[in-house]
Amino acid sequence: MKNFHTVIVGGGPGGLACATLLAQQGKDVLVLERNSAIGPKVCAGGIPSVAQNLGFPETLWERSFTRQHISSNWQHAVIQDDKPIIRTVDRVRLGRWMAEKAVAAGVSIKTDTLVLQISEDRVTAKGGEEFGYNFLVGADGSSSLVRRQLGIPTADMGVGINYQVPGNFPEMQWHLNTDLFGNGYAWIFPHQDTASIGVYARRSTSKPGMLLNSLHQWAADHGHELKSRQPQAALINFDFRGWHFNNRFLIGDAAGLASGLTGEGIYSAIVSGEEAARTILNGEYESSKMAQLIKKHHQHARMLELSSGGKLAGKLVLEAMVFCLRIGLIPFNALEMGINQPS
Ligand SMILES: Cc1cc2nc3c(=O)[nH]c(=O)nc-3n(C[C@H](O)[C@H](O)[C@H](O)COP(=O)(O)OP(=O)(O)OC[C@H]3O[C@@H](n4cnc5c(N)ncnc54)[C@H](O)[C@@H]3O)c2cc1C
Repeated sequence: MKNFHTVIVGGGPGGLACATLLAQQGKDVLVLERNSAIGPKVCAGGIPSVAQNLGFPETLWERSFTRQHISSNWQHAVIQDDKPIIRTVDRVRLGRWMAEKAVAAGVSIKTDTLVLQISEDRVTAKGGEEFGYNFLVGADGSSSLVRRQLGIPTADMGVGINYQVPGNFPEMQWHLNTDLFGNGYAWIFPHQDTASIGVYARRSTSKPGMLLNSLHQWAADHGHELKSRQPQAALINFDFRGWHFNNRFLIGDAAGLASGLTGEGIYSAIVSGEEAARTILNGEYESSKMAQLIKKHHQHARMLELSSGGKLAGKLVLEAMVFCLRIGLIPFNALEMGINQPS
């Protein structure tokens, strides 16, 4: 059995961010990824403006938008800024860039390696190979094995359905239609030659089959033909119950750090990955960034609960939210998981 300072289960943005920072400080780090390639993931690829401080190169951005179009049952709001409010990334290109950075820092990445078992000092992959660790990081997404092994339940999740549709789409759009999507929403997030068209909702209130039908209905009304295409769907864990458990950590979706309100989780995966690394490197480290991220997460959870309070109540809360965005009473970044603004 080969031993590592830190074993990270999952090679998504959270796991790679954590691995890179640890390796840059000279630690022997192994990332285990079940897929044959790093990067592919069902995702719309929307990145909030605050993520600019994560150091992504300009070439990684697919599209940048200084305007957001938000439609609800009763209103249409156009939010505008001088600087891009949201940009989009392609998850394959993001994964490739993050993996190259990790390997350059000295991280070992092992793909085609499905972790099946976790014990006190080792993980066992399919086929029986074992890897010893001093620290273990669960970066294994919304159905995290590390989380289950820690005995942490997941009571509620979001579900996201995505179509990648070819074409040139000029606007970034959000559609809060409570009759179709409950307190979820449909989106159009343009990329270079395609757009992500999809829907997000809370699983406990919207069954995936019904959500898909609603998306088809909405898309047909808006002139987008989706039915002949292949949808992709995935769960999004927003049930946060802790991230640091002695020598084990949960980050990103494994920790439930995605937003229950919007389903956004790339930024919180990267920030929590880096903060887990800093905590591993220095046992005395107190992460103010994690405190802010968790505070923001709770704010989103409260807004989600408010908008889940029955059909009419939900509609009124979402309409009030769009109204406040329209008149600037709440800034658009209140809907983002970003933490470098007052919250
Ligand atoms: C339809 C949809 C649209 C979305 N749109 C956006 C968006 O626009 N913006 C945004 O910020 N977020 C979005 N999200 C959420 C975003 O994709 C996640 O929050 C983000 O990918 C979380 O990163 P992560 O590193 O925590 O986990 P992941 O990216 O899920 O990575 C986990 C990795 O662990 C691997 N893994 C899992 N189990 C094992 C195992 N047992 N052994 C080995 N490897 C394992 C997986 O293969 C995967 O590569 C969307 C999600 C969906 C479903």
